[in-house]
Amino acid sequence: MTEGFGFEIGTRLDDRGGGRTGTITTPHGTIRTPAFIPVGTQATVKGVLPEAMAELGAQALLANAYHLYLQPGADIVDEAGGLGRFMNWPGPTFTDSGGFQVMSLGSGFKKVIAMSVERAEDDAATAGGKERLSRVDDDGVTFKSHLNGSMHRFTPEVSMQVQHQLGADIMFAFDELTTLMNTRDYQVESLERTRLWAERCLVEHRRLTEERVGKPYQALFGVLQGAHYEDLRRKAARDLGSMEIDGQRFEGFGIGGALEKENLGRIVRWVTEELPEDRPRHLLGISEPDDLFAAIETGADTFDCVQPSRVARNAALYTADGRFNVDTARNRRNFAPIDEDCDCYTCAHYTRAYLHHLFKAKELAVFTLATIHNERFTVRLVDSIRDAIDAGQFEEFRDEYLGRFYASKAGPRGT
Ligand SMILES: [Zn+2]
Repeated sequence: MTEGFGFEIGTRLDDRGGGRTGTITTPHGTIRTPAFIPVGTQATVKGVLPEAMAELGAQALLANAYHLYLQPGADIVDEAGGLGRFMNWPGPTFTDSGGFQVMSLGSGFKKVIAMSVERAEDDAATAGGKERLSRVDDDGVTFKSHLNGSMHRFTPEVSMQVQHQLGADIMFAFDELTTLMNTRDYQVESLERTRLWAERCLVEHRRLTEERVGKPYQALFGVLQGAHYEDLRRKAARDLGSMEIDGQRFEGFGIGGALEKENLGRIVRWVTEELPEDRPRHLLGISEPDDLFAAIETGADTFDCVQPSRVARNAALYTADGRFNVDTARNRRNFAPIDEDCDCYTCAHYTRAYLHHLFKAKELAVFTLATIHNERFTVRLVDSIRDAIDAGQFEEFRDEYLGRFYASKAGPRGT
C-alpha cells in the first residue's frame, strides 16, 4: 500500500530519536530533509509562479484543502489531473486537512484560537465578539464558508475524500485543533476525539486508495495534538504512532496545534521520543529561524508556513542580520540588494531603493520580488541546517547563525 512513498534517514544528531537528515520519496520526486515547504494556500504561492519557486529551491509546495474545497472545488482539481498538474508544479505536493482553517473560523483568532463547543462554555472563547463560523461535535465540524456564508460539514471521511480528489503526495488526517485557552479537561476530551477521527481517516484513506487504481499513491500523515501537556502529547504520539487498521498505518506525522514559542523544542522532543523513528515528522506552521533550529534539533523533518510570503507583502524582509522593513525612509537611496549574502533572483537584480519605490508606488511586481527573497531565505536556511547536520557542525552553525540574526533588534547591519 506504500508504492512510491518512503523515508530514509541520513545523518543523526543524537540517539534519542531527535534531529536527523533524510530523504522522503514521493511519486512526484524526492524531498531532502530537513526541508521548508512553502505554502500555496489556493494552489498558488501568492505572486510567484511555480517555475520561480522551483528556481529558488523549493522542493515541494503545500496547499490548503479547505480553500480548494470551497474554490474551485476538489472535483475540478481532480479532473485537472490533481493539484500538481492543475498548478503546473511537477514536484511533490502536500495538502493539509482543512481542520485548521475550518476551526479557525470558530474563533477569529489566527495562531492561537479557541473552539466553540456548546456544552463546554468555558472553552467557547472567541476574538472580540466576532461571529462564530464553525461548531465541533464528535462526528465532525459544521462551518460557514468565509466566501459566501454557505453551510458545509467536514468529517474525517469528507476530509479524506477531498484530499484524495486534490491528489497531493502527502495528506494530513483530520484533527481537532485546540488552543492554549482551552481547559485541560477539554484538551483530554478533544484528544480522544482526534484519536477516533484518526482511526476513521485511516479506514477511509485505505478504502479510497483501493479505488484510485492507476493514480499516484498518496501518503497520509496523522496529526498529533495535546497542547502544552507532556502526558497528552506523548499519548497522542504513542496512539497514532502505533495505530494500524487492516494493514494501513500513518506514513508520517504532523505535529499540530497550540505551541508556545518557548515550549516548541520541548514539545517536539516529547513526541519524537515516542514516535517510530522510521517515518517523517512535519511541524505545521513555523518559519522563524530560532523556531526552525529548535524544531530540527528535536527531530522535525519538514515545516510549512505562510509567514515568509505574508510578511513579504508587508515589506518585511529577512536577512542574515535580522528582519527589516524595506519601505522605511532609510532605504530610499540604498542601492544595495536586500541581503548581500543572498543568492536569490531579486537580490541578483534589484536594489532596496527599487523595492522601496515599488512599495511606495503600490506596484504589484514588488509582491513577487519580495516573496521570492523571503521564500529563498527560508528554504536556504533549512538547507544550510541540513548540510550542517551532515557535516557534523549543527551546534556551531546554530550558535553562529542565531547569534548574528538576533544580534540587533533594530535591523540589519548598515541600515
Ligand atoms: Zn534575496
